[in-house]
Amino acid sequence: MTRASTEMTGAVGETVVRRRFVVRGIVQGVGFRPFVHRVASRLGLAGSAYNFTGGVEIEVEGPPSAVLAFGAALVNERPAIAVVDDVVTEDLAPTGQTDFVIVPSREQPGGQVFISTDLALCGDCRRELLDPADRRYHYPFINCTNCGPRYTITARVPYDRPNTSMKPFLMCQRCAGEYQDIADRRYHAQPVACPHCGPVVEFAAAAGMTCRGGDALEMARTWLGNGRILAIKGLGGFHLACDAGNEEAVQALRRRKGREQKPLAVMVRDLGCAEQMAQLTPSDRHLLQSPQMPIVLAPKRLPERLASSVAPASSDYGVMLPYTPLHEMLFLDSPLRALVMTSGNLSDEPLCTDNQEALQRLSAVADAFLWHDRDILVGCDDSVVRTTRCGPIMIRRARGYAPCPTRLAHSVRPVLAVGGHLKDTVCFTAGTGAVLSQHLGDLENMATLCHFERLIEHLQAVLQVEPQALACDLHPDYLSTRWATETAERLGLPLIGVQHHHAHIAACLADNGVSGPVVGLACDGTGYGEDGAIWGCEVLEADLNGFRRLGHLREVPLPGGEAAVREPWRMAAAYLHEAYGPEALDTVPARLTQIGASQWGLLRQMLQRRLNCPLAASAGRLFDAVSALLGLCLQAGFEGQAAITCEAAAEPTHSHYPYAIHSEDGNLLLDPLPTVRAVVDDLARGVTVPQIAGCFHETFALMLAEAAQAGCDATGHDTVALSGGTFQNRLLLERLHELLIARGLHVLCHQAVPPNDGGLALGQAVVADAQLRAD
Ligand code: ZN
Ligand code: ZN
Ligand code: FE
Repeated sequence: MTRASTEMTGAVGETVVRRRFVVRGIVQGVGFRPFVHRVASRLGLAGSAYNFTGGVEIEVEGPPSAVLAFGAALVNERPAIAVVDDVVTEDLAPTGQTDFVIVPSREQPGGQVFISTDLALCGDCRRELLDPADRRYHYPFINCTNCGPRYTITARVPYDRPNTSMKPFLMCQRCAGEYQDIADRRYHAQPVACPHCGPVVEFAAAAGMTCRGGDALEMARTWLGNGRILAIKGLGGFHLACDAGNEEAVQALRRRKGREQKPLAVMVRDLGCAEQMAQLTPSDRHLLQSPQMPIVLAPKRLPERLASSVAPASSDYGVMLPYTPLHEMLFLDSPLRALVMTSGNLSDEPLCTDNQEALQRLSAVADAFLWHDRDILVGCDDSVVRTTRCGPIMIRRARGYAPCPTRLAHSVRPVLAVGGHLKDTVCFTAGTGAVLSQHLGDLENMATLCHFERLIEHLQAVLQVEPQALACDLHPDYLSTRWATETAERLGLPLIGVQHHHAHIAACLADNGVSGPVVGLACDGTGYGEDGAIWGCEVLEADLNGFRRLGHLREVPLPGGEAAVREPWRMAAAYLHEAYGPEALDTVPARLTQIGASQWGLLRQMLQRRLNCPLAASAGRLFDAVSALLGLCLQAGFEGQAAITCEAAAEPTHSHYPYAIHSEDGNLLLDPLPTVRAVVDDLARGVTVPQIAGCFHETFALMLAEAAQAGCDATGHDTVALSGGTFQNRLLLERLHELLIARGLHVLCHQAVPPNDGGLALGQAVVADAQLRAD
């Protein structure tokens, strides 16, 4: 696009040039145009800048050296939260312009646009919030170009105030002044507001009592302090909140929400408070204070500092800091140190974002509402991250991270991938980016499916893409698969089914910006296999185009099918049956006596006759079996609970149990039955549960490392990709990583995308693109 520059001589005899810079990436809603204006002023350049649907376009005019310096500054000094993908320059004829102006945005269809994520309250705004002399003192919607809402208030692009839910708020003179002042931190900050012109917070109790502004915040603090439950409207949706130090309040919240055991997230007043209740690593501290401010899972300090029912089934607390000014105000001059802050929904329902909807759905849970009149246009949960020695693992990717694109190694065609069933996300590809949506939840019912459709519509409006194909899982009964099938038919688009574990490995490849081929270890609970069987612990040779199954875990029966997923004790029985035969089930094992003899007997018959016993090769179910044999978790209150308790109990060790890897017709069979027998022996000998759990983890890591090596030997690859929900297990991931490195192999772990089913859609999208390309 560059052509010979047309030069012109300025008044003082110096040469003047004019150059256009087209900047693409995450450059809208991050203070990019103000930044451009400041740099241009500093360098004495004239020109203009405007947002277009694909990014920001800038023209500058002045001495060649200054124009050159401007180009360098565009990349080197860009705002920390901006992401510049590429800059295309073109030399133009100078026009003699003498000032620098920001031109109103132009709409331009078909561009590739990436909208900024919502950002946590910045240090400057926090200072002003707490400064009695500031005009936004205690104003719960203070924000600037470096912080505040973005994605969740944007209806469409370009990112300008009329296209956001700030549209109804007419800026007062002083706000408008700041908005237009190039020297101001709020220059062109779209959500800029103050107590005179901006959103208002309101407290509303069930009895009809309401108050607004500072009184509302005061009332909220009082009610929370008194052990009441509040529904609080935040950045991406409602939270249900109560004092995390008040056992009765936490129990009431669990009871009313219908959430029995799953750990509840906690918002603490400051970092010091987080340190007191959890053991934080330097990277935990860094994440907690990052502009994303996710929930960080960190080991509890003992004795527990919070009500015991906050996280009864976990050795970790999920901790976050106040990430909006409204949240900051909840702790102001209050003895409250930590609040339970759990998603504002009933179990299995999507997050509430709208005031009326919240009133209808959450009235039975909340004693009162703290809400406001700035609409949330798309729901976005809190993100959840866990740090490891191999980098942070994204457990739930939403606020602060979505819809930040994954950069791909090559340009792709527009595809919409709809993910799986649990922890669903969807993914759009466009240009050289793949945009994975925020976490949606489990697609269990019509309510979540409607939410899924709304999210697809919203994301499409923000991204301005028209998919040319759809991608989905192979499982015929997933709601996402059915929706994709119907939609593809209706629109006459090709539909590409992608095998679950292939999608996991492809997601890991895309997450690392590579395309393979590699040996992939895909370990999770359940995925639909190409043969219709349940897969879940796979050694694959894979690239984006396709895969070959090199090996898998030995299959065991799942007595009762889905019931075996909810009741890990059934898996203990299944493994005992496989390891020793039916006689082993004559008596109920010591740690399983909670299961009545008649129930146990029934299961024995089921296994013996193979009634309703589909076969599964699942890493998750093996963890379930061991967790149950150890008496840690017989009934799972939530997905993955048995594996989480098994990891929590484990004492790391380098001693291990026997295992076997058989080679059958060139196919590797990973056999954990010798391991299960050794676990049973150790239990009988009185070895402690932490020792057995630790030894089991070490054994499983060794078995996977050996299988990966065998896969590499068979294929000639030396890179191993790790994906699947099992790799949320820090102990297993860190040890396996270490073992693979020690064998001289190259290891790919997930970076920005979850290893669990929340990453599937990304894998599906890149596989679909590769297959379209191959056709
Ligand atoms: Zn700020
Ligand atoms: Zn104002
Ligand atoms: Fe999976």
